[in-house]
Amino acid sequence: MENRQVIVVGGGLVGALTALLLAQKGEYIHLIENKDLISPLENSPFDLRVSAFSAQSKKLLELAGVWNLLPKNRLCAYQRLQTWEKGSEKLCFDSTEIGLDALGYIAENRWIQAVLWQSLKSCANVRFYEGREVRTLHNADSGVSVYLDNNQRIDAQLLIACDGAKSAVRGLLNIAITAWDYRQHCMLINIKTDAPEQNITWQEFRESGPCAFLPLADNNASLVWYHHPQKIKYLNSLSKVQLKKAIIEEFPVLPFAFSVQDNGSFPLTRRHAQRYYKGSCVLLGDAAHTIHPLAGQGVNLGFKDVQCLVELLENSSDLPIPVLLKRYEAKRKPANLLMQTTMDLFYKSSKCELDSLRLLRKGILHLAQNSGALKKQVMRYAMGL
Ligand SMILES: Cc1cc2nc3c(=O)[nH]c(=O)nc-3n(C[C@H](O)[C@H](O)[C@H](O)COP(=O)(O)OP(=O)(O)OC[C@H]3O[C@@H](n4cnc5c(N)ncnc54)[C@H](O)[C@@H]3O)c2cc1C
Repeated sequence: MENRQVIVVGGGLVGALTALLLAQKGEYIHLIENKDLISPLENSPFDLRVSAFSAQSKKLLELAGVWNLLPKNRLCAYQRLQTWEKGSEKLCFDSTEIGLDALGYIAENRWIQAVLWQSLKSCANVRFYEGREVRTLHNADSGVSVYLDNNQRIDAQLLIACDGAKSAVRGLLNIAITAWDYRQHCMLINIKTDAPEQNITWQEFRESGPCAFLPLADNNASLVWYHHPQKIKYLNSLSKVQLKKAIIEEFPVLPFAFSVQDNGSFPLTRRHAQRYYKGSCVLLGDAAHTIHPLAGQGVNLGFKDVQCLVELLENSSDLPIPVLLKRYEAKRKPANLLMQTTMDLFYKSSKCELDSLRLLRKGILHLAQNSGALKKQVMRYAMGL
């Protein structure tokens, strides 16, 4: 790779991984993050924002050398996954069916971000602009210049926007998005159980939206409850004791005693940028696409964007940046659209808007459960393999 000057805007999971992988390949990185990062503590309560990382995402984090930096007491591997429609047959996946130790891993977003930043801080070729934002941007095929909110100027050959769903860079570039709000909100509830660490994640589809269980390290877990926005608002207004009662009465049965530790809710919006690059600037992760989180694929798609761009920069360094970015868009846009559309199909069918869609989903689940080859294929796809 050439030793290019690269601006990365946004130091979340996608931006921090991009910055680290490129820095390790010798690029000179300017990392602009508008928040001050607070390092999490190993004994602090679990944060609500957790993600399921696929085997492929784990590989990328290993490649960046950060996977082993994650404290063991903040990481949970799951070997089994079950999904079913309320009252119907269960579709069960087991990592042993494809000869792997785990189907995926659940960790807090803030811990993944923290180990990425820890490694970034030891790179001599990374310059940090923390608590800063891009105010103006001059973009051309030959390069890009930005002015920060303190009037500091940075020039680079490439700018990578990883500043999340409401990307300010996307706005400065005048890249339009196609977007709509799902008629569902999502409630995240962290619980402590009286059972040992679980190795299973599951999701029940209901007319009002899915209900999911994600195991966390030790005797912790995350419940994900999708419902109409008014219902989620109501659930969020309850005390922890009242919320526990609602979970016992309305959520799928949990086979252990538990206490509610923390809860919060999120609106859900689908967004897709109409283009992924302009001149010498490119969008990655949530800045380019957000999807319904029912299959936990958001950050995994973002990591695939990272892998694709880093490989293109490494393997085609003789090409002009705009040509390379065009190839990135051609690879990632259709793949992200396919995943968004698949999630929308599951969302629409679970909302029971069309009986035919619900039947289709049931049919797919039944077929997948009874066809060994298809099931393994689905498992490999979900794991990013
Ligand atoms: C309820 C819920 C559950 C989810 N569960 C899963 C899951 O199980 N698995 C999964 O794969 N995905 C999941 N996702 C999706 C996943 O969280 C996101 O796809 C992922 O966090 C996106 O990472 P990102 O780095 O692209 O964006 P972000 O995480 O939003 O990071 C953006 C970064 O840019 C910074 N920033 C923002 N604006 C500026 C600016 N103007 N200037 C400088 N910096 C800026 C922010 O401070 C932040 O650090 C879930 C999403 C939701 C809402």
